[in-house]
Amino acid sequence: MFEKILIANRGEIALRVIRACREMGIKSVAVHSTADADAMHVRLADESVCIGPAPSSESYLKKSAIISACEISGAQAVHPGYGFLSENASFAQALEDHGITFIGPSAEHIRIMGDKITAKETAKALGIPCVPGSEGGVADVETALKTAGEIGYPVIIKATAGGGGRGMKVAKSASELEVAFRTARSEAKAAFGNDEVYIEKYLQKPRHIEIQVFGDGKGRAVHLGERDCSLQRRHQKVFEEAPGPCITPKMRAEIGKICADAVAKINYIGAGTVEFLYEDGKFYFIEMNTRLQVEHPVTEYVFGVDLVREQIRVAAGLPLSFKQEELEVQGHAIEVRINAEKLPNFTPCPGRVRTFHAPGGLGVRMDSALYGGYAIPPYYDSLIGKLIVHGRDRPEALARLKRALSELVVDGIDTTVPLFAALLAEPDIQAGEYNIHWLEKWLAAQFG
Ligand code: ADP
Repeated sequence: MFEKILIANRGEIALRVIRACREMGIKSVAVHSTADADAMHVRLADESVCIGPAPSSESYLKKSAIISACEISGAQAVHPGYGFLSENASFAQALEDHGITFIGPSAEHIRIMGDKITAKETAKALGIPCVPGSEGGVADVETALKTAGEIGYPVIIKATAGGGGRGMKVAKSASELEVAFRTARSEAKAAFGNDEVYIEKYLQKPRHIEIQVFGDGKGRAVHLGERDCSLQRRHQKVFEEAPGPCITPKMRAEIGKICADAVAKINYIGAGTVEFLYEDGKFYFIEMNTRLQVEHPVTEYVFGVDLVREQIRVAAGLPLSFKQEELEVQGHAIEVRINAEKLPNFTPCPGRVRTFHAPGGLGVRMDSALYGGYAIPPYYDSLIGKLIVHGRDRPEALARLKRALSELVVDGIDTTVPLFAALLAEPDIQAGEYNIHWLEKWLAAQFG
């Protein structure tokens, strides 16, 4: 087992990894930018190294600075968290070249899944059902028109290098396609430096269902069921739950097995998430994330496992600590993402937190790096915490979430907490009846 792990991240996810390390008797090394000298992850880690100035490009995204920090501290492995360098194949490769273990899949698997066209082709070859669409990239308007005509409108044009909900354009008819196609390409070029796009059927009212998988790198893999992450704003998740309100145990076992078998076949190592859109009883693959997800705690709650501990174990060459038949859904879990944003426009509003009080009690977990007096720096993502609850069933989890939200105090800044209190009063949310468009429609009706 590793003696020392460096965490190439900040905020709540850095704390999450430090906590797993401490429970496993592993020393942790935090890295931080100059803007994060007072951050909680720096305080909680056993050691810390300053890796550069505030902008991420000069600190948390700077591979050479992170590798130097490993060398200075003697860390044998790096946990990348999510975001930043977590899905950067050349970072994983550079660590390997320096004899440092990347706690995640191989550079090759990251590369395959990082390019959405290649990911879709791979998924298809591994027997995973996909959204109908173009065979590979679409290079010009004529081909786009022809392909879209064959698939049938509406269609969605997506950047192969896309991520974070960016680089997607919908066309409802042939007359809209040309503009959508050109805009998608130029946006993709500007955002990702790669203008390759592909076309998919645009599903009208799907749910976003994703399957958690875990591989040991030696041909064995398990699945840990699904998460429903359909409540999204601008294609970004805000509320996630497990199990999915519309997924039966039989469906879970079937789609879960397809995903676990697929990753086992490629000797995948570590945590992964296979994302699907789900409509009328059918699953359609959209992408695979080769890292820990923000919403992993809902899975931890319903399966009673520590996914970060498991990531560290398999990276150290140990076998998976659970078998498929031991993994059973227990109760229901919900996560809400709390951002330092002002409603109704979700404008980021970093600043100094006067008071922070985390809720507690049975089945309540608050993953946050906040503390009273902390000044949230303006340079990074606006996620300031995740509130996760667990109950024996969905109604109990909903009641618990409502209660926990009422205890949470974040004074001094605006947050998205009021959004969740309002959502919980909605009959559709109480009934679990929502799809990927529900939240945008609701927000438009509330705030215009
Ligand atoms: P990203 O990597 O940017 O998150 P995804 O491919 O995972 O992109 O898609 C993000 C979201 O965009 C999905 O959860 C869904 O809401 C929407 N989306 C993507 N593809 C389609 C599609 N074919 N039809 C309808 N909605 C889609």
